[in-house]
Amino acid sequence: MARREITNWSQLQRFQPREIFTPRSEDELAAIVARAGLEGRRIKLMGAGHSFTAIAVTPDFHVTIHALDQLHHVDQSSGVVTVGAGITLKKLNRELDRYGLALTNMGDIDKQSIAGAVSTGTHGTGLAYGGIATQIRGLRMITPNGDVVDIDANHEPELFRCARVGLGALGIITRVTLQAVPSFRLHAVESSHSLDDVLEAWPDTIRSNDHAEFFFMPGGRNAARKINNRTDEPAAPLSRRRYIADKLVAENIGFGVIIRPNGVGPRLQHVVE
Ligand SMILES: Cc1cc2nc3c(=O)[nH]c(=O)nc-3n(C[C@H](O)[C@H](O)[C@H](O)COP(=O)(O)OP(=O)(O)OC[C@H]3O[C@@H](n4cnc5c(N)ncnc54)[C@H](O)[C@@H]3O)c2cc1C
Repeated sequence: MARREITNWSQLQRFQPREIFTPRSEDELAAIVARAGLEGRRIKLMGAGHSFTAIAVTPDFHVTIHALDQLHHVDQSSGVVTVGAGITLKKLNRELDRYGLALTNMGDIDKQSIAGAVSTGTHGTGLAYGGIATQIRGLRMITPNGDVVDIDANHEPELFRCARVGLGALGIITRVTLQAVPSFRLHAVESSHSLDDVLEAWPDTIRSNDHAEFFFMPGGRNAARKINNRTDEPAAPLSRRRYIADKLVAENIGFGVIIRPNGVGPRLQHVVE
């Protein structure tokens, strides 16, 4: 029988694993690990497949755990939360919000699984705010020999330290315990500048703002800068029209404009296609 092809988000990684598994429980996962051991097969987990590299590619057993996406425990006063490792950041944020909690920091998108985001050191910006791995307080893992272990700073501390950015190489993460914070609002300012001006001001920009980042196209002279600061001001989201104009059109088509001055747009687009 022909093997099914799996692709990552960018579709640059394509592979046909020997077998595909979608376990619905830790017991089913443990049985897959036992079988892999008996047959001498390797296992690779894939979260949301958003890594650009071949880090989640395998010729052997391809496993996804989207079904392990439950909220297991919430301590609203301390902000410590335990979730299934297959939960997406989007769903995690929604669940946390129900309890007045939030991740203290995250990257640009929310499509990743918490396990994938943790395993690759996914991060946002901000001198005072660490990446997702810094928010992790404990992990439940199935090790390659089939043991289920709960690890944290006191139990198996060395394994815990490594597994916080384990690159999927140390075992299967089935549960993640993380430290959330009281939810907060961000005031976002997104603007376009010359790349030289952004770079010159950068040391001051990152010191004087909670979060700052900029995008530019190699060879281009302009940059799109995004700054976010925590605020107690009431929420003032963009209207639907402004959202479509500023976010969807400006951010996507605007990128084309950023790279046009040097005429490198068409060439770059060609490479990206
Ligand atoms: C559009 C886009 C925007 C991005 N923005 C950012 C950003 O702002 N900041 C940033 O730092 N990164 C960013 N990334 C990168 C992304 O956060 C990482 O590649 C992340 O690993 C993707 O999570 P995933 O769930 O898709 O993991 P996958 O890519 O599926 O897997 C990543 C690794 O985790 C392992 N893994 C997955 N699940 C488990 C598990 N249960 N147990 C053990 N190992 C496991 C896999 O085997 C693999 O080694 C972005 C990527 C894209 C495509």
